[in-house]
Amino acid sequence: MTATGKEPHTVEAYINGEIYRSGEHEARENPAKTDETAGYWPLNSVEDAKRAIGSADEAFKSWRKTEMQDRIERMQKGIQKIKDKQQELTELLSREHGKPLYDAEGELTVSIMFMEYAVENAERVYKEEINEDENGKSVLRHEPIGVVSAISPWNYPLALSTEKIAPALLAGNTMVLKPSPMAPLTVTEVTHMIAEEFPAGVLNIVHGDADVGVELTSNDKVRKIAFTGGTNTGKHIMKAAAETIKNVTLELGGNDPAIFLEDFDVNDEAAMRRVVISNFLTGGQICMIAKRMYVHESIYDQFVEKYIEAANKWLRIGDPTKKETTVGPVNNKNQLEFVRELLEDSKKQGYEIKQLGKVDDEEFFKKGYFMYPTIVLGADYDSRIVAEEQFGPTVPILKFKDDEHAIELANDSELGLTSSVWGEEEHALGVSRHIEAGVTMVNTAAIQGLDVRYPFGGVKQSGIGREYGKEGMLEYVDSHVINIPAAKDLPNIPK
Ligand code: NAD
Repeated sequence: MTATGKEPHTVEAYINGEIYRSGEHEARENPAKTDETAGYWPLNSVEDAKRAIGSADEAFKSWRKTEMQDRIERMQKGIQKIKDKQQELTELLSREHGKPLYDAEGELTVSIMFMEYAVENAERVYKEEINEDENGKSVLRHEPIGVVSAISPWNYPLALSTEKIAPALLAGNTMVLKPSPMAPLTVTEVTHMIAEEFPAGVLNIVHGDADVGVELTSNDKVRKIAFTGGTNTGKHIMKAAAETIKNVTLELGGNDPAIFLEDFDVNDEAAMRRVVISNFLTGGQICMIAKRMYVHESIYDQFVEKYIEAANKWLRIGDPTKKETTVGPVNNKNQLEFVRELLEDSKKQGYEIKQLGKVDDEEFFKKGYFMYPTIVLGADYDSRIVAEEQFGPTVPILKFKDDEHAIELANDSELGLTSSVWGEEEHALGVSRHIEAGVTMVNTAAIQGLDVRYPFGGVKQSGIGREYGKEGMLEYVDSHVINIPAAKDLPNIPK
């Protein structure tokens, strides 16, 4: 990796063990200062994508036969290189994405944490199991699936790519990764660092938008798709995968509810700070952020008052490269406009919008895709601001009557990614059991409550399959059973 500094950072594709230079490059702007270019990424063609898939297919023939120890050592070397460059990678990620430094550093940490978990557990999770008893002998093997297409979004470009790369390669698959054009730089650097440690063709990266994505999800040689992104894109991908029955893992959108029970202590300042963070970390641009807040009517007024106090303390909006900044700009213009549109609609409906936090430099604020974080009060349960995933720095706070009502409101969505319940622990645990979601957190939410040792994913239209934990690792293998039964005939077959 070369210097980052303020110079635009150019990245290239990596195909068949080599840096692949293509003619055309696109600029990635710095969302905090839109007159500045963070870097350039190659606009790869469908032909480039085919080439990468072909090289992954060829490499699979020998990579699938390699020893686990060999795979582990290679992955460890890749992880070490990332750790050695952590500071530079953090700065580059902050600049291309707009997330503040502490937040970018957090993403690097989570990425490394799960890759190390995968390395430590690969032997145990993927090992062949042999059982022998009076019924005979059986062998359960975990076979790699083949060429995996990995497609990741812009909000956590590194974590959502490395969580696919590590288990896929450790299981013996090969991969072609396509990151999002909205944050393509750091993930490319990291992918190169890992790919260089593996034989040619095992890990490839190409860039582009939907056309390259379509090739990666419809090419005959691809056996599995690991996708993270929006629910609508997930639907296109599932259709493309159907043609050749590809294995899919889909991590899609979330509209995560947070329930504050009557016994939640609004005077607990530490808890209130966690609540604010669970709405506005990464400027609210996280799949697993609390996006609908339901508060028991008996504590609602006090809750809102204390929430605003805590938010005004923690939300410092500004230059993401400054240490004190907690919220940066929105990542891109489309997203900014979408969130503004939801707020416009809320205004038209007569809902109350309260602006939160402090901007340290109003002039700087105008240079990028900044917006003030807001809460929306008095919204209808079925309004756009409640029913749609905002994916930005705004959140509605609503009232509920009793536990049953809260559960009904929380489950009234086609999405079911994560969720949270806040209050007395046993009470919150009881309510949690009724929530339709892949993960429910008690007295915390969003990444604050993520545990990479356990499976993560959604129910309903939030996705199919899991990432993280043993279950996430098993998404990259097919089971293959070899049976040698003691009795080879059915007992009731006429002789
Ligand atoms: P997106 O769906 O627009 O894009 C994701 C990726 O898919 C990008 O790399 C894009 O270039 C590619 N793509 C677009 N059209 C394609 C097609 N037809 N075929 C193949 N690939 C295609 O999502 P985004 O705007 O980058 O990310 C935001 C969304 O991602 C939000 O809805 C968020 O909730 C979701 N998300 C989910 C998780 C999760 O773990 N469930 C995590 C992060 C983000």
